[in-house]
Amino acid sequence: MDFIYPNGKKQALTFSFDDNQDFDKKLIEIFDKNGMKCTFNVNSGTLGGTAEENPDGNVYIKPEEVKEVYKNHEVAVHGVEHKYIATLTDPMIVNEFFEDRKALEALTGKLVQGAAYAFGRHDERIMNILRTVGIKYARGVASTYDFFPPMDFLDWCPTCHQADPNIIEIGERFLNCPGYIELPLMYVWGHSYEFGRSKDWSGIEKFCEMMSGKDYIWYATNMEIYEYINATRSLEFSADGKKVFNPTLIEVFYKTADGFSSIKSGETKIIK
Ligand SMILES: [Zn+2]
Repeated sequence: MDFIYPNGKKQALTFSFDDNQDFDKKLIEIFDKNGMKCTFNVNSGTLGGTAEENPDGNVYIKPEEVKEVYKNHEVAVHGVEHKYIATLTDPMIVNEFFEDRKALEALTGKLVQGAAYAFGRHDERIMNILRTVGIKYARGVASTYDFFPPMDFLDWCPTCHQADPNIIEIGERFLNCPGYIELPLMYVWGHSYEFGRSKDWSGIEKFCEMMSGKDYIWYATNMEIYEYINATRSLEFSADGKKVFNPTLIEVFYKTADGFSSIKSGETKIIK
């Protein structure tokens, strides 16, 4: 069975941007104009920080703005204080992520179960702690330069950084993605302050314009991608592989000789 994205979309595009600086507002304008969906990884401990308080002059989104600013996108955790977790004890790591979840869930009114690792570093110990505190996926920083979905969503590596000198070429390669990749996914990450400090937003504007309005692309947040791919991996098959049961709440789509079909939530289906 070859899976395909919801409603027969061939490919998916997702973004995540970290550190909740005020520049996120301008980035969201660009994403919304182009129909892009992004996950914003937020450090609840820095929210509300002003230029006067921060030696580097950073201005952060205010806590009371979080719900409205990010309403069209996903909010995920990034550690309360953006600590370098590789050298922390287990209880300290629990605090960084579990307390961030609590704070962000209170501000958004939603479940917050995604994450990005501050500084990207992580190992089995850290991944297990995140799993324990209810995190479903977490993103590192090493570029894969490919379009395969992750094997393990707690070790989710992006395709590339937004400032990658080859991002336009990578985007073109994605638009002409080879058919042998199942559920092709392009994942771009970065920080809005990288555009904000240079006052040059043309790179991300050009990329979004190039990728927008494609009827074969699913524009989705990290969590939407996780939930869908997780559903494809949760199907139950008969021993002969001819009957499939969908125990999830998500309709799962697959390719057929003349297009695509689906297995609805709770449905058992004979595969032709
Ligand atoms: Zn960060």
